[in-house]
Amino acid sequence: MEDTIAAISTALGVGAISIVRLSGKEAIQIVNEIWKGSDLIKSPTHKIHYGKIVEKEKEIDEVLVSIMRAPNTYTGEDIVEINCHGGIATTNKILELVLEHGARLARPGEFTERRFLNGKIDLIQAQGIKDLVDATTDEKRALAMNQLNGKVSSKIENLRQEILEKILAQIEVNIDYPEYEDIEQLTNEQILPELKNIKNKMQDILKESKNGVMIQQGIKTSIIGRPNVGKSSLLNALLGEEKAIVTDIEGTTRDIVEGEIVISGVPFHIIDTAGIRKSEQLVEQIGIKKSLEMIDQSELVLFVLNNHEKLTDQDRTILKKIENKNKIIIINKTDLKTNLEIDQLPKEECVFMSTLKEQGLDDLKEKMKELFHLEKIQTEDPTYLTNANSISFLKQAIASIDQAIDGISKNMPIDMVEIDIKKAWDELGLIIGKTYQDELINQLFSQFCLGK
Ligand code: GDP
Repeated sequence: MEDTIAAISTALGVGAISIVRLSGKEAIQIVNEIWKGSDLIKSPTHKIHYGKIVEKEKEIDEVLVSIMRAPNTYTGEDIVEINCHGGIATTNKILELVLEHGARLARPGEFTERRFLNGKIDLIQAQGIKDLVDATTDEKRALAMNQLNGKVSSKIENLRQEILEKILAQIEVNIDYPEYEDIEQLTNEQILPELKNIKNKMQDILKESKNGVMIQQGIKTSIIGRPNVGKSSLLNALLGEEKAIVTDIEGTTRDIVEGEIVISGVPFHIIDTAGIRKSEQLVEQIGIKKSLEMIDQSELVLFVLNNHEKLTDQDRTILKKIENKNKIIIINKTDLKTNLEIDQLPKEECVFMSTLKEQGLDDLKEKMKELFHLEKIQTEDPTYLTNANSISFLKQAIASIDQAIDGISKNMPIDMVEIDIKKAWDELGLIIGKTYQDELINQLFSQFCLGK
C-alpha cells in the first residue's frame, strides 16, 4: 500500500460536479503540485479549500478540495477529494494531471480494499458496501446495511467467541490444570454438549442464509407451456404492464421476454419462453430447445396449461421433466369449458387462473410465497449471509465441528479433536476476513466500481 491511488469517484458523464479522489501518503503533496490556492501541505485535517487546478500556469478548473488526513478517513490513509465541474473532459484532465504527478490509477474497489486492509472493516462489511451500491430493492438495501454496520459479522464473531471461551479455553485449562478426573469425563460432560450447541447455531445461520441469497439474488423463474396457452398474458398480469406482446397467432412469442416482480422482499426474475411444441419450423425448434434448457436453469417453473384443451404428449413430457423441480402448474382459461384431465395433475401444485378475466393472480403469488417459505423471511432487519464464499466457509466449519464430535465418539486424543475445533474457528474467521486468502480478497474487490 505504498502507492498513492487515484480515480474518478462519481459516475462519468455530464453532471454538476465530479469528484476525483486520491488516497495514500503522497495524496496531499500531489494535489498541491497542481494547485493554486492556500498551501495544502499545511492544511489541517477535514478542511475544504477553494482554489484552482493548474497545469503549469494554465488554469484547468475552479474547484473545492477536501483534505482528510489519516487515520480517520475512508481508507485509513490521507485522502484528497477534488470537487470539480462535472463533465468528461475536465474530470479526465484532472485525473490525468494527478497521474502525471505520481498517483497510480486505482483498481475497481481499491479504496474499499485499503479500508479492509487497514482494519477499518471486515469482509462482510466490505461486501455490504458493494451490495449497498448495487441494491435495487429496499430489502437488498436493508440487508446490505446490516452487513455494513456489523450486525451480520457479529453473529459470526459470537460463534467464534463461544468456540474460544467455552471449548478451546476449557480444553487448554484442563490439559494444564485438570479439574476433571480424566479427559473422557471432560469431553463427554463439557465439550461434547458445547460442540453440539455450536453446531446447531451454525446450522440455523446456514438455513437462514437461503433467505439472504434469495433476497440478494432472487429466484430464476420461467414460464413454460405450449403456444397460445396464455404465457405472455400471464407475464403481463404478473408484471402489471404490457411488456410481452400478446397475440393469438400460435408461436408468436419466439423471443424470450423477461421482467421482475418482488414478493415478500424476494425478486422473482421471470422469463417467458417460446412455446413448446413439435414443429417442423426451424425457428420454432430453436425456441423449443431454449425452453427445455430454460427448465434446467430455472429455480421455479410456471407451467401453463389451457383448461379448454386436453393434455398432449408434449405436456406429459414436460410434466415428467419438471416432476422434481419447484413448480406451479397453472391451469389457465378457466373461463372456458374444462376439457383438461385435471384429475391427472398433482392437485396441491395447481393454480386455477383466467388471465383474461384477471382471476387467480393472488392465488399464484400466494403459492409462490408458500413454495419458498417467504412468510418466514425477515425483511425489516435481515441479518443473513448472502455471499456464496461465506456460505461455503460456514459449511466447512460445520463439517469440522462434525469431525470433532466424531473424534470424541471414537475416543480420539483431545489434542487431535482440538485441531478440528481450531479449524472450524479459522473457517469462521474466513467469513469475516479475520484469517484471509488473497484470492478471495481479489475476487471480492474486483467486483466494485472504479473509484469506490
Ligand atoms: P402464449 O402463446 O402462451 O404466450 O399465449 P398468449 O398470452 O399470447 O395468449 C394466447 C391467446 O389466448 C390470446 O388471444 C389471449 O387473449 C388468450 N388468453 C390468454 N389468457 C386467457 C384466458 O384466461 N381466457 C381466455 N379465454 N383466453 C385467454
